[in-house]
Amino acid sequence: MQREIKIENLKAEVKNKVDLKKRPTFTLQWHLTSACPNRCKHCYVEQNNQILSLKECKKIVNDLRTIKERWDCDIRIHFSGGDPLLYPYFFRVA
Ligand code: SF4
Repeated sequence: MQREIKIENLKAEVKNKVDLKKRPTFTLQWHLTSACPNRCKHCYVEQNNQILSLKECKKIVNDLRTIKERWDCDIRIHFSGGDPLLYPYFFRVA
């Protein structure tokens, strides 16, 4: 049985599901390195030897702080790769 969709009903449904007062979250999926000892068939990571310097990472962290202040949002970082634990400065960045 098909349900008739009315715009008014749709707007009300969306309004009920989206909390506009909720603080937004900026999410960064940070590929720290492409290095990885595995070779999964489904992997999309392009192998290369480029890594960010610690100085470049600190700049990114500072940029994230600026975004947090300007946008008044929360910041969520997902460390990824490759294997992020193979990134030489992982514990200094995280
Ligand atoms: S980066 Fe992840 S998906 Fe790719 S080979 Fe390594 S473990 Fe597998």
